[in-house]
Amino acid sequence: MSETIRTQVLIVGGGPGGYVAAIRCGQLGLDTVLVEADRLGGTCLIRGCIPSKAMIHAATEYEGMVSAADSPRFGISLSARPQLDMKATVAWKETIVNRLNNGVDALLRRAKVRVIKGWGRFSDAKTCQVKTQEGDLTVCSDHVILATGSMPVQLPSLPLGGRIISSAEALTLDEVPKRLVVVGAGYIGLELGIAFAKFGSKVTVVESTNRILPLYDSKLVEPVQRWLQEHGVTLHLKSKALGEADGGLAVETEDGAKTVLPADKILVTVGRRPLTDGWGLDEMAVAMDGHFVKVDDRCATSSKNVWAIGDLVGEPMLAHKASAQGEMVAEIIAGKRRRFDPVAIPAVCFTEPEIVSVGVGPDAPNTVTSTFPFAANGRALSMGAGDDGGFTRVVADAETHRILGVQAVGTHISELSTAFTTAIEMGATAEDIVGIIHAHPTLGEAFHEANLKLLGHAIHA
Ligand code: FAD
Repeated sequence: MSETIRTQVLIVGGGPGGYVAAIRCGQLGLDTVLVEADRLGGTCLIRGCIPSKAMIHAATEYEGMVSAADSPRFGISLSARPQLDMKATVAWKETIVNRLNNGVDALLRRAKVRVIKGWGRFSDAKTCQVKTQEGDLTVCSDHVILATGSMPVQLPSLPLGGRIISSAEALTLDEVPKRLVVVGAGYIGLELGIAFAKFGSKVTVVESTNRILPLYDSKLVEPVQRWLQEHGVTLHLKSKALGEADGGLAVETEDGAKTVLPADKILVTVGRRPLTDGWGLDEMAVAMDGHFVKVDDRCATSSKNVWAIGDLVGEPMLAHKASAQGEMVAEIIAGKRRRFDPVAIPAVCFTEPEIVSVGVGPDAPNTVTSTFPFAANGRALSMGAGDDGGFTRVVADAETHRILGVQAVGTHISELSTAFTTAIEMGATAEDIVGIIHAHPTLGEAFHEANLKLLGHAIHA
């Protein structure tokens, strides 16, 4: 007979949603069990946010050295081209992943969370059977938090295997593919496509719509588009991937012509879907919202004391949203009054240059907009990053000047996402930001200047 464990809270899925919920439950004194089939940290830590950013960083370092070997920059030249050992780069990336994975393990231990490694499957809303290496376990819980995350969407015409890979395999390649075709020009495809272009791949991007990064407005995307052009990345917009062909990928281009794009690897990044199969969701009688589990503003499902968070419950499918929901649900279970009602959730693309978007865009009604270029920002210029077309844009209420949205594109601009979100979330007006002394020389001064400009008295523009 399998062992039965009774607990106050059962969490299935140890990604940034589930493990954060578990730590918070533990901190609040709730008896908590976390079930994770794979490694702690989920998509984000093991095969998503962290490993991709590590590889992007390594690619940028390599590209900088290659260009120093080709022609001196900042007075620096290299007498020989740098050598890239992709196995060693991937191994370095793994050290970061392992370190954070161990950190999550230690934090869960400190919070007295019981972690069970195995695949969980519900037989009803509060009972879950877990297949572990040591045998089967049954967990019965007063509260259940579903945090099973998401999977890459697969195209029937491009089944994964051989040269067809998903983002997970792209992050563990032993060698840089000479020719890489990326199918799908969303943020994951472009982040990885750009990294491989920096590593030296000949990159081609195939996208079915008429533009890259369709979730961002065209002005924001322009500097990225320019980088792609200048670095020999070929774009096929309004084009359809038909399937693997001899030597590459068969595509139908905008004009209806069929052609084969030569490829050593074909990276499919056409989106992600919530992981709803194979763990007994059907037995739990929870209402759905399309492919996602339906939740209210407390992340409660239609089944009493069953909660769901993260990629499983809808857009934006981002790690920080999953964690915020996890923390909130833990507090609700512990008796606090909480709602998930953020004014804005930042979205960042770690492309070249980086893009940040928070809150409403420039087309929102009754707003005024002000843009300040990084070409006029001393810090950007001092990093050699003032000429990539980057800018910061503030969108404010036309009457009150309350900041409703901030978008920016530029080198290292991801680090400003917190300043932008803080301003919006705290209800700051342009006058408030103007009254704050911003350190010099920093990229943040561009935010200050954009607000000054909005009020009609920019100093440096
Ligand atoms: P997940 O992280 O997917 O975790 C779910 C976990 O549940 C998994 O570990 C899985 O093994 C486990 N699980 C599922 N079912 C069961 C079961 N039945 N039993 C046991 N365990 C189970 N987001 C950002 O915010 N910033 C980024 O820069 C970013 N970059 C990304 C780059 C890539 C290449 C990818 C693929 C994603 C990226 N994301 C990024 C998205 C981010 O990874 C997800 O939004 C986030 O991981 C969602 O967290 P989650 O906890 O909902 O689910």
